[in-house]
Amino acid sequence: MTQPNWTLPHKLTCRIQSYAWGCTGPDAYLAQLMGLEHPESPLAELWMGAHTKIPSVLDGQGLDAHIKSNANSICGEACLRKFGMGLPYLFKILSARESLSIQLHPSKTEAEGLHAKDPKNYPDDNHKPEIAIALDSLEALLGFESLSRIVQHLDQEPELAEFLGAQHVQALRSALNLTTEKQNAILKAVFTALFELSQTQKKLLKSCTTKMAQRLRQKNDGAPRSKWFIELQQQYSEGDVGLFCLYFLKYCTLQPGEGVFLKADVPHAYLRGNIVECMANSDNVVRAGLTPKFVDVETLSQIVIVEQDSLNSQHSTDNGLGGGVFKVVVDEFEVHHWKNTQAQTVAIELSQLSGPRILVMLSGSLTSRDFCAQKGQVVLLADACKENMELSVGGEFYLARPNC
Ligand SMILES: [Zn+2]
Repeated sequence: MTQPNWTLPHKLTCRIQSYAWGCTGPDAYLAQLMGLEHPESPLAELWMGAHTKIPSVLDGQGLDAHIKSNANSICGEACLRKFGMGLPYLFKILSARESLSIQLHPSKTEAEGLHAKDPKNYPDDNHKPEIAIALDSLEALLGFESLSRIVQHLDQEPELAEFLGAQHVQALRSALNLTTEKQNAILKAVFTALFELSQTQKKLLKSCTTKMAQRLRQKNDGAPRSKWFIELQQQYSEGDVGLFCLYFLKYCTLQPGEGVFLKADVPHAYLRGNIVECMANSDNVVRAGLTPKFVDVETLSQIVIVEQDSLNSQHSTDNGLGGGVFKVVVDEFEVHHWKNTQAQTVAIELSQLSGPRILVMLSGSLTSRDFCAQKGQVVLLADACKENMELSVGGEFYLARPNC
């Protein structure tokens, strides 16, 4: 088989993961983007990268396999030296109609231990810090709410207080006067206790969540948390600890182009919306709630990081090449964004960015010599590719690369 010429851009064939929470029908975000007229199952995540679970494909071969035989041309020396063999990141477009599970991702050391002990639930040994950038508005739970707000919620939602028990409620209330460090330790103990209770007190969990949904329906206060509680309680009518997590975690809405970075061990859930997501190349998830799947309470309670009210929000800054860049504290990835709002095509100096780059077209076209990528197409620029490209009027794309 002739090898692709890595000095040129190449289109990748990328698969869409179907999960129950994805969007259905021809109006789904991913159906519109990829031009799928009759999607049969919910469209949840477009995976762009070389993760062995579903690698993107070029000339009938997975990108992971291409990298194995052409590592230097595709990844480049600097990337290989820094991250070893393989693509250091995984790039996705995620489209959620229903909430995803509340989850957190282990650190590198934790992932190594978890994968060795339980490879079924932890499929690789890598960490998975991630950035999520809203394409339209995104509703999400991101990190912890402040202790004072959590105590307010306990005052306002008696069923939550009833389930937690007077001792834990009192512990949180008394913590208000303590240092942040002590508050966080107590909050972590009570949050962990909430999960332990959810496993030993299943009947009480069901009755408290059912009662609370009935009361909130009558109260009809229009608050986002109330709306989500009512909606999710219908979905998890047998009781799910994630329903109560709504009152411990920070409810956020992100506007288009606004991002958030999630480091290891910070709990989060995307509730609804379409996002660009980039992460270290891993699929390790510790699930905490809003899921029929395995909830690993022991791991969760060991690794969860409690920091109050500490949203790590991200805005792109000028990348000096006519677009914007989201830089994060890890080096496995950074995300660039271009949108041509001018009246003529613009030159994009992609040759200035080294390393293996993957980009996804959201609108318009991106061209160079004999190459043209259009809406919904995904392009690999190997390290060896030094082409600059032109973006059409109204054209828009996101690009991921390692920081190397
Ligand atoms: Zn996540």
